Amino acid sequence: MDVFSHTLWGYGLFGQKRPWLAMAMGAMPDMISFGAFALLRLVNGDYVPGKPDLEIIPAWCIVLYDLSHSLLISLLVVALVHRLWPGPAFAMLAWPFHIMLDIPFHTRHYFPTKFLYPLNDIFYDGIAWSRPLVWLPNIAGVLLVVGHRLWRRRQAANRAAA
Ligand SMILES: [Zn+2]
Repeated sequence: MDVFSHTLWGYGLFGQKRPWLAMAMGAMPDMISFGAFALLRLVNGDYVPGKPDLEIIPAWCIVLYDLSHSLLISLLVVALVHRLWPGPAFAMLAWPFHIMLDIPFHTRHYFPTKFLYPLNDIFYDGIAWSRPLVWLPNIAGVLLVVGHRLWRRRQAANRAAA
């Protein structure tokens, strides 16, 4: 899924108390890999919008992608945070949710989601998220969860004002 959708899914589903953290955790897996690579290319003056070819993607970007897209690692980190400091743990669930969205909507041709990394390189050869079959329901889902979140925030603000 694209990073904007991940950010909004995070906000809509996990942004009740800590909306900025939920959005950041929703975006984080792609930002620390693709985002860092895009920033580096921008600084170097060779940034080209769109999906970069696999041949030019550096090994460090692929490792960061695999680490940040491990359901195993994300759940361990969220569980650890929940144990040490429970407050932010719910908003951090946007991270494993990001991975659960990527598992069925990445193909083996471009960054398949190795959700058990580093224990195992297993992945699901899914349907590319950019196809209308996936993209349009994604947008509908994003509108639904963000609309619901905004509606709930408005209700809470009205109750506080009454
Ligand atoms: Zn991703």
